Amino acid sequence: QYLDPANQELISYRKMHLGKSLSLQYKEPIKMVRGDGVFLMDQYGRQYLDTVNNVAHVGHEHPKVVKAGQDQMALINTNSRYLHENINELAKEILATMPPQLSVIHFVNSGSEANELAIRMMKAATGSNDVLVSEVGYHGNSNMCIDISSYKFDGKGGQGAPEFTHVFPLPDRFRGKYRGDNTGEKYALEVEKCISNAHQKGRKIGGFIIEPIISCGGQIELPEGFLQRAYESVRKVGGICISDEVQVGCGRMGKTFWGFQLHDVVPDIVTIGKPLGNGHPLAAVVCTQDIAEKFANGMEYFNTFGGNPVSCAIGTAVMKVIKEEKLQENALKVGNYLKAELRALALEFPIIGDVRGQGLFLGIEFVDAHMKPMAAQADYVINRMKDYGILMSTDGPDNNVLKIKPPIVFSIENAEELIQCLKNILEEDFIKHQYEY
Ligand code: PMP
Repeated sequence: QYLDPANQELISYRKMHLGKSLSLQYKEPIKMVRGDGVFLMDQYGRQYLDTVNNVAHVGHEHPKVVKAGQDQMALINTNSRYLHENINELAKEILATMPPQLSVIHFVNSGSEANELAIRMMKAATGSNDVLVSEVGYHGNSNMCIDISSYKFDGKGGQGAPEFTHVFPLPDRFRGKYRGDNTGEKYALEVEKCISNAHQKGRKIGGFIIEPIISCGGQIELPEGFLQRAYESVRKVGGICISDEVQVGCGRMGKTFWGFQLHDVVPDIVTIGKPLGNGHPLAAVVCTQDIAEKFANGMEYFNTFGGNPVSCAIGTAVMKVIKEEKLQENALKVGNYLKAELRALALEFPIIGDVRGQGLFLGIEFVDAHMKPMAAQADYVINRMKDYGILMSTDGPDNNVLKIKPPIVFSIENAEELIQCLKNILEEDFIKHQYEY
């Protein structure tokens, strides 16, 4: 295996002195030194098309976002116990995109913190810590977030679900428990089953958390009707509904600004993360007045960095750029184009079993003729794509799903380049020899 000698020092220092439970991207790690729009650049000036980074939402180092942060940093940065326009302004920008019922916002610094707070709110509002979660869902890295993330507690190093977490099957209509069209109701019945099992054990349901497209699950779109029915069942037993929009939110879906809007439901709590700060640590929890009042039970919620003027200036710039540059519309247009092209590719290359997703949040699942996952091939493709200067990632319980979730300034031209390179690689022997065409 070739490792760039110039990067050796960085790698060996990390190995010794930085946290050991984090893997580096690629067998031959890359050192990135600049970002610009949909591109990243390594130390040799090599440019990579980034189809992975859903954090650099409006493009890497967008000049308006950078300037907003720089200007505010030079002026003042304090905690949110002082008055400042920036926090109000960002709250207004976000609330303007929400249904009227969702009208109170708490600012935090990461998606994990957002979900952590959402679960605390759930407990305050319902008196119960018991959560319904999807198989292979991921909601963050804190203690509570791990406890509600089947991706972690059912994965390597995990110790299974704690007693207050109730897992329902991944609503995957391609390779899940129920397949094909009209599976929404069947999967929603699984949620109901999960609720009755919990009741039989004497537990009370506090709530339900899910992503509108389950990312770590392999870009699983929720089947039609599932979310509405699941919400009804949860609310019937006194639970609240949380939509984790950390990956999918802020216009990426194309058709809608938030993922839950695809399903015509109104959650009680929405958590927002990654895209909101375009790379700056900024996240938020939006909830109803009722939940906010129940949470304010006398114990203060103070967050040192959450909602500071610099973060809020950055967040506001991001929200404005999405509107000014019509990026939600771009996600729809380019996403639809890409999905159609990928589906055409699937007809030519049967290793592509499924192409799914919304806007610029797509998944390409590799399977053999017996629907067995083809992880080695997916891994091969992303490594070869890197040789072509395109960054991609894989995920899903079997690591056989290519994920596409680029900055939403991704253009038709970028999509064409991606398709062309993917096609070239799918024609290579490694893929052909292992798949009967
Ligand atoms: N929720 C989802 C759906 C996520 O994908 C992530 C991060 N990958 C988180 C929450 C946690 O966010 P963070 O890493 O910012 O804490």
